[in-house]
Amino acid sequence: MKKKAFVNQKLCVACGCCLKACKLGAVSIPTGVYAVIDALKCVGCGMCEKNCPAGIITISKVNQEPVEQKNLTKGMVDTDE
Ligand code: SF4
Ligand code: SF4
Repeated sequence: MKKKAFVNQKLCVACGCCLKACKLGAVSIPTGVYAVIDALKCVGCGMCEKNCPAGIITISKVNQEPVEQKNLTKGMVDTDE
């Protein structure tokens, strides 16, 4: 099972430490208010978690079920006329 980082955005002070710590460029602070993790780039290495002075990043396991994604894509076809 893959791991990803999650930010408690209510407590984030947008200091940018996680952004600097992430070697994969998976962190951004687009609004300047809180950090956002790009789940497609994040590999769950934990460097951002270790470098967050507020301690508000957690690394959690992520359930990935390709079958569900396939069904979702199928369901989105033929909805437009
Ligand atoms: S867990 Fe690693 S790859 Fe993911 S956002 Fe944090 S530093 Fe980047
Ligand atoms: S290091 Fe922590 S407090 Fe700083 S921007 Fe990242 S998540 Fe927010």
